[in-house]
Amino acid sequence: MLLTILGCSGGLPGPDAAASGYLLEADGFRLVVDLGSGALAALQTRCDAFEVDALLLSRLCPDHCSDLTALTVLRRYHTHPPYDTTARRLPVHAPGEAPDRFARAYAENADELARTDLSDVFDFRPLDDGTIHIGPFEVVAARAGHGRAFGFRITAGAASLAYPALSPVLPLAAGVDLLLAEAGRTGCPVGSSATAAGVRKVLLTHIEPWTDPQTVLTHARAGFTGPVELARQGRSYRIG
Ligand SMILES: [Zn+2]
Repeated sequence: MLLTILGCSGGLPGPDAAASGYLLEADGFRLVVDLGSGALAALQTRCDAFEVDALLLSRLCPDHCSDLTALTVLRRYHTHPPYDTTARRLPVHAPGEAPDRFARAYAENADELARTDLSDVFDFRPLDDGTIHIGPFEVVAARAGHGRAFGFRITAGAASLAYPALSPVLPLAAGVDLLLAEAGRTGCPVGSSATAAGVRKVLLTHIEPWTDPQTVLTHARAGFTGPVELARQGRSYRIG
């Protein structure tokens, strides 16, 4: 499994990074996990955005999903798309409120909202707690302790990744090759949670532009003796 960071800035895009977005590739299948502000631009530096096979959204906060409205423009109005985007709609695995949420975000006014939603080019599939299969990926989804965010344990073959929403969800992360940990403010809970979960490696992401990443890194390393890195915009990581 190959992970590429499309965005790792927390809460909003920063000067050097888009908001949350991650490209996972395995067996030629491309799964994008979250598509926050600026992540679609980064995606287009890695591949043709039409070549994405599925989207998986952990939550409906703008910094995790707002570029879906921009992707709508691409899939609806591109003058020479490589395939018929209404016949081959993009699967979007997301919290159940997604269709309504994105229609409202996209429509300019009530009149347009009454006439259209985005289901012409997207195939929305509501997330629930449990296991789903997306191409070669097995995804275990679990709601985080509060709110409507989901955390994921994603495996492909022998490779495993956990992407818990906000605070690490230990059962999801147990023994994974890589914990993609939303750190922010301080990495303290991340380090100790990574130790408790027995993960092999930690990649720190979702750090706000006003937070010193080195401080986050230092705190995380204090709680976890294995390898810990700061996620870097545009960088790829081989997992497993
Ligand atoms: Zn966020």
